[in-house]
Order: sequence, then structure tokens, then C-alpha cells
Amino acid sequence: MKKLLFLIFVSFSIITYLIFFNQNSLKVEYIPIGNQKTKNIPIASFDAATKPKNIILIIGDGTGFNQITLSRIAAGGADYRLAIDQIPFLGNSLTHSYDNIYTDSAASATAMATGIKTKNKFLAVTPEKEAVPTIPEMISNKGYISGLVATSSITHATPAAFYAHIDSRYKEKEIASQLLESPIQLSLGGGLEFFDIVKAQESNLLITDMNDLDGDEFLKANQVLGLFDEDGINRSSSKPAQLQMTKAALNWLSLKTNLNSCNGFFLMSEGSQIDWASHDNDAATMVVEFKDFDQTIAMAMDFVTANKETLLIVTADHETGGLQILSQKDDMVKVQWGTGSHTSIPVGVYAYGPGAHVFTGLIDNTDIHYMILDAINASDLKPSVCTN
Ligand SMILES: [Zn+2]
Repeated sequence: MKKLLFLIFVSFSIITYLIFFNQNSLKVEYIPIGNQKTKNIPIASFDAATKPKNIILIIGDGTGFNQITLSRIAAGGADYRLAIDQIPFLGNSLTHSYDNIYTDSAASATAMATGIKTKNKFLAVTPEKEAVPTIPEMISNKGYISGLVATSSITHATPAAFYAHIDSRYKEKEIASQLLESPIQLSLGGGLEFFDIVKAQESNLLITDMNDLDGDEFLKANQVLGLFDEDGINRSSSKPAQLQMTKAALNWLSLKTNLNSCNGFFLMSEGSQIDWASHDNDAATMVVEFKDFDQTIAMAMDFVTANKETLLIVTADHETGGLQILSQKDDMVKVQWGTGSHTSIPVGVYAYGPGAHVFTGLIDNTDIHYMILDAINASDLKPSVCTN
């Protein structure tokens, strides 16, 4: 009996040690330094008095300054410039949630969507669980249409904070049914398994094939739900990337805004899986995910330059992984992860277009909400509904 107890004690100690050791291991990776040449993106200038009509908010989930720095080095070395690096205005945003210096995507996206701090896991509700209106809800009766894009399920925390009001981000079926009742007119991402498909098709053109993002039917539809995977989008050439979905969304939203003489549109597009690769402490995959995000930013910058009435804001909900960039060994850069969770490191807020000049200095993530509404003069817009 004594022997058995001793054996149990020894195995328990070994397991405890292994768990403890794993939590404290700092994963080191070597990433090749790239040799691409910078593609200079044309930048237009806008005078401070010009107001934008349209808003594009691009969120890199888990994308801190070092995710950007490593992606820059991996593309073309220390002197290379990504698209995000070429955005003219840059500020810092604090990301803490209502009662914790640690934020999750739900609380941080709620801060941007509604202007309030809430508890982690909560979506567009106060810490007391009362619903708070989101940007798409606030401007849908002021002549605006709204769209959402994500490489996660469209019911995942970040996109959900723009339309769902619920005390848990994990109730994805409930969140999906709230999307169908919301003023969001275009949703592109994953999450097929969470939807009541019959109900979804009553009000939406449902598309599940990336080729349908080009079709006539897509452009003619008054409301579109594009679900390209059961849950998060499995990355492959047969599935749309953030770039393709965001491009399709901008085409669709511009067309509808012009056809219906809307005041403008709001688009939120998330690079969701930069966070997932960072949780996995997988720098090589993170860089691949970031590339899609940066190509999306480059395309959106060209849209702003051509369109002149659109304000682009790029930010993150939080940093993930505590990524550190340490040293160079031959043609490799040594990086090390500090955690498998999120950190409280401030994130960048980048802005380009009319109204971009105010996005500088140290701000709070809730400020982004008010700065967006101020940019489009939301409080002065007359009530009007912009539908087909
Ligand atoms: Zn995360």
C-alpha cells in the first residue's frame, strides 16, 4: 500500500513538473530573412476639413507590433516596407477589458464596435449584460449599409461584436441567429455549421463557393451571406482569402451605396488566423497569415486613393504570444514566444484617407468607436434608410 501511494505521488509530481515546464518553455524559432523589394504604394493627401463617407476597419486579430516587424523582415529584411508600414498616420491603442488588463477578442471588438469596456467573452453588452448598440446598428437608420469579412467563422468573437448582444462568445448558434436579425447586409467568412440554413436563405443569397463572389447573382442580391467553411476557413486555394473576400465586399458595398444613394458604407474585415498561429507559437504560419492581411491592406489603400471618400483604419484587438525578435544568425532571424495566450502590449492604429490625421498618439480602443462616428459626422446625419 505504501509502495502504491509512493508511486502515485511520484507520477503526480512528474506530471505537475511537465505541465509547469511546458508553460514556462519559451519556444525559439528561426525564420529566413526575405529579399523582396518594397512595392511603393501611391499615397494621396487629404486636407483636414474633408470628411469621409465610407469606413473600412481592418483588424488583425492578435497582431502586435512584433508580428508586423517579423513579417517585414521575413518579406524583405529590416529596410523593407510592408503595405501597413506605408500608412501615413499611426497611433497606439490600449486594449485592456473592463475588469482585466488581459483582453480577449470579444471585449476588445466590443470596445471598438460600441465604445464601452466590457468583460472578456461578452459581446456588445455591458458588464451587467445590457445590450449596447454597435456601429452598424447606430448608422443603419442614417443611410448607411454595413458588411463584415473574417477568415474565422463570421460568428467568431471579433465580427460578432458588431451585431450580436450576448454574454458568451461561445454561443455561436445563438450568435448566428442574431446575425440574421441584424442590419448587416453582407457577411463573408466561415461558420456554415452554426446557421439555420433554411432561415438564412429567406432573407439572404447564400453562397458557399468562392467563384460566386464574382458572379452577377452576387452583385444583384440585396443581402448576402457567404459561408465558405463549416467553422473557420481552412486555408487552401479553393477557399477565399481575406483579400478576395474584402475585394468582393468593397465591390458590393460601393455598388449598393451608389445604386441606392446611401450616405456611405461601413466594412469591418478581420485577418482572424494571425491570432491562431500566434496562440500555436508558430511564427512561420503567422507570417503566411500576415501576408494575406497585408495584401488586403494594400488593396484597401488603393481603394482609398482611387475613391477619395473612404477612411481606412487598421488595428488589432490585442497582441498574441508575446512575440520577441532577438537576433540575426546568418540569413535567419531568431524569434522567441513568451506565452500561448494574449498579452497587454498596446497595438498600433494606422489610418489613411480623409479624417485619418486624428488617429495619432496614445488612445484607448474605445476611442476608435467615437473617432469613426465623428469622422462621418454620425450625430448630424438625418434619419434615412438605405435599402433596395
Ligand atoms: Zn486569441
